[in-house]
Amino acid sequence: MKILLAVPVFLAFGALPLLAQPRPARDASQAVDEEYTKKIREYTTEPFFNSPLTDYLPASKTVPTPKAVLGDIAGAPGILPYAEEVYRYMRMLEAASPRVKVFSIGKTEEGREMIAVAVVDQRLLAKLDENRARLAKLADPRTIHLDDAEAEKLVAASTPIYYITGTIHSPETGAPTALMELAYRLAVDDSAYIKFIRENTITLITPIVEVDGRDRMVDVYRWHLANPGKQWPPLIYWGHYVGHDNNRDAMGLTLALTRNVLHTFVGWKAQVLHDLHESVPYLYDNTVGDGPYNAWIDPILAGEWQMMGWDNVSEMTAFGMPGVFTHGTFDTWSPSYLMFIAAMHNGISRLYETFGNGGADTEERTLEPGEFARTWYRQNPPLPKAKWSQRNNNNYEETGLLTGLAYFTANRTLFLRNFYLKAKRSIEKARKEGPAAYVFSADDPRPGAQADLLRMLQEQGCEISRASAPFTVMMLPKKAPPKRGPDAAEETGDHKAKPKPKPEPRTFAAGSFVLRMDQPYSRIADALLDYQYWAPNDPQKDIYDDTGWTFGELGNVQVARVTDVRVLDAAMNTVERPVAAPGGVTGTGRVFLIDHNADNALATLRYRFPNASFEAAEEPFEAAGRKFNRGSFIVSDVAAGDLANANAELGIQAYAVSATPAVKTHPLRAARIAVMHTWLSAQSDGWWRLEFDRLKIPYDYISTQTVAATEGAGGLRSKYDAIILPPGIRSPQAVVAGLPMYGNPLPWKVTPLTPNLGKTDETDDMRPGLGWTGLARVQEFVRQGGLLITASDSTNFAVTFGFTPGIGIAPAARLKVTGSALRSKTVDAASPIVYGYGDNLAIFASNPPVFSLSNMAGGGGGRRNNPDEHQRPTGRGTADDPDVPQGRTPAEIPEEPHAEAWEALPVTDEQLRNPINVLPPAARPRVVLRYADAKELLVSGLLDNGGELAQHAAVVDAPYGEGHVVLFSNNPFWRAETKGSYFLVFNAIMNFDSLGAGRKLADK
Ligand SMILES: [Zn+2]
Repeated sequence: MKILLAVPVFLAFGALPLLAQPRPARDASQAVDEEYTKKIREYTTEPFFNSPLTDYLPASKTVPTPKAVLGDIAGAPGILPYAEEVYRYMRMLEAASPRVKVFSIGKTEEGREMIAVAVVDQRLLAKLDENRARLAKLADPRTIHLDDAEAEKLVAASTPIYYITGTIHSPETGAPTALMELAYRLAVDDSAYIKFIRENTITLITPIVEVDGRDRMVDVYRWHLANPGKQWPPLIYWGHYVGHDNNRDAMGLTLALTRNVLHTFVGWKAQVLHDLHESVPYLYDNTVGDGPYNAWIDPILAGEWQMMGWDNVSEMTAFGMPGVFTHGTFDTWSPSYLMFIAAMHNGISRLYETFGNGGADTEERTLEPGEFARTWYRQNPPLPKAKWSQRNNNNYEETGLLTGLAYFTANRTLFLRNFYLKAKRSIEKARKEGPAAYVFSADDPRPGAQADLLRMLQEQGCEISRASAPFTVMMLPKKAPPKRGPDAAEETGDHKAKPKPKPEPRTFAAGSFVLRMDQPYSRIADALLDYQYWAPNDPQKDIYDDTGWTFGELGNVQVARVTDVRVLDAAMNTVERPVAAPGGVTGTGRVFLIDHNADNALATLRYRFPNASFEAAEEPFEAAGRKFNRGSFIVSDVAAGDLANANAELGIQAYAVSATPAVKTHPLRAARIAVMHTWLSAQSDGWWRLEFDRLKIPYDYISTQTVAATEGAGGLRSKYDAIILPPGIRSPQAVVAGLPMYGNPLPWKVTPLTPNLGKTDETDDMRPGLGWTGLARVQEFVRQGGLLITASDSTNFAVTFGFTPGIGIAPAARLKVTGSALRSKTVDAASPIVYGYGDNLAIFASNPPVFSLSNMAGGGGGRRNNPDEHQRPTGRGTADDPDVPQGRTPAEIPEEPHAEAWEALPVTDEQLRNPINVLPPAARPRVVLRYADAKELLVSGLLDNGGELAQHAAVVDAPYGEGHVVLFSNNPFWRAETKGSYFLVFNAIMNFDSLGAGRKLADK
């Protein structure tokens, strides 16, 4: 029946399809490019590092081979093409072959082009739009009323799309030449195997995903070739902002490369996204991966992963190629990887790790025992030692892709049907497994943060609706966290079953946003907005990446997970444009009041008008008929029209009044900021820079070397008010020492040989660090009133070098936090750092430093023990009784000083006898936020032995000289997932010279 339906369609194309997958064999009647083929053999180091699919190149009289651009074959030693050369070749192919078309898919941060190359039989290439229209119906089954029979017709008539992406990771250099040659083979080769693919599947290729990083990597390789025998500069910058983390952006979508690939995958309605990487020998198809699998994928996908992964292994193993395996240790939990765009949009995500040399040198490679060991999933392991070439790598990449394409093509009906079925089940999700919808309340105190999150979801392809009338749904009350530990049994008493919590009605106002789950891309929304739980006893101990990311919590946005399907019947309209918060100025007067709600746009506003007067209210107040939070802005010296325009653009509401309200204030500064980086690693500062740029908050990007060289009157302090040392510093000593000084200088700068280095920062030699001079200058900067901001591991820099008397970092013994969202509690609501915040903010941490506080200089001490664990010595009486020395009157035992885990122990009279080491009250650290109690500490992700971190200080303001050091145990800027924490940093910066506001000092 299905075949009968299909026949007329194929007749319309004038070709009869090959139904079964042919065996790989060259077409004997097609000439071979002898010279090219000879070079393939020459550059392949062993015959078994090649396959019958790639050990020859078919000749063409009209279509140029990669040699036309490279001057040699793909994978030749010493040759690494720039993006521009790869694109030139793809466009030569397009000009010479009717089977190739090149599409521009967007620009990078530095303005370089990204492309996608479609290769398919010319009759199909001419009808891409008709095909896309059919695929679009399968991708959104609502368009065909979820009619399976109609879908079956579309499946039979459609050509599927297999999308391949190369070189997202810049030191992984093989993909561009492999993909140039693959495009040639697909366009030219007349073997039954290749024709089968070409006539039934559209292969879409983005040869370079990280284009900015590719060009830098080629620069470094050219430098290496021009300086034989020398050590070459490590590739510290890949893209403009981040390095390896460019493959962790598929949730936040902040990098241009992610958005460009997402729009291509979703826009083309592709079925597969296959991303090429290089690390382990020789080809690890990590598609199958290991558990735990992401909990929001359609289970159908898990089956597709197995089918494609194991076929790959068996085909390539049959060719006699060693070291091809799947499964491995990669857990498939986080949806942040580029390939996961497919997994979360009803496609199939795939990823290869092949073996690269980080350049195009041919080298002897010796493996670790674990790498060449035979395991159940690697029956033909890699060789312990082998000469390895870029050509070998290209052979493996191309052979893997061709067998994958052939298998996909042979099973295209199934995969297209699954593509439809997954979309249909995503729509049915609302009424089946749920939830029915996520609702974003119209009365969220942070409309800007809400709009920001909704725009990201729209970019993910999700439809957002807006309620046109109030509606009521039944919701379960928020569960109290489960009791654990010694009190648990007591509280549950006689272990009688507790009554089940009853749903209660909740009404959402008109204007609330609704993300319905009865839409094709419901899974990505569910995965991002839901909570994550990674069991501490999970068998997976080799956790690959973050375990928690709940976007509502980390974004400080209220998100209601609604399972009541009546939400779907609420009156609502689809939001057609990107969601934006309303903003403007109401009332008249020359003074403008803006409520501080920690919306990030408020920081943008401050820097939009650097010369206007902004004051921060130190207490809440009422004016203009409404309440304003502590920290609210009182703005003057700005034209009402200018402010109204800025507010409309930024989604900020201001209230004009005629007189300044009577409330204590201090200046809110457009402070001068520097972000300081080392030349060891600049990976994580990129996430800070990216968001500062996006929010238009100006800063200087300076290195530790620049700091060391800053002399003259006022030094750093005359230039900056705040210096940020983002996390990722390796160690405090490494910041000072830099790279080892033996060997040769390592330049990172624009030269004719390396035109793409620099662009962010430059140096003649990456090796020197901050040095002792630089360290002294940073200390002087703070002593003179500057603010140093540290976070996560960079707090250790401030603690180790004595910027923070009274703060210690206690080594965690068994604590495990692997990229999780944790609950914080406000300790000091009067601190400017928490202006605009309520309590219970979720913060992001990954094995965070555990702070311990002391009122003694140099103190800090160890982790605070639970007072219940205090044990009495051996003696008379019961465990709770005091010991009583015999033969004298019992002495009264004074009460021991007590403090909470986030506090310093109170100063004792003994310590005050000659208090050289007692910090004066104003010099003591001020705890602003702490981690929540153990039982409510985990928000999302993995937390094991959380008691070691619970209740300890999370954000501390440490006075030092005239200035301050602010320490964040959490990382406030992480992969655009922590937008709710940004304002802690902005508050610190804009209040840098008033951080002591609202502080209550101890009396002794
Ligand atoms: Zn990689």
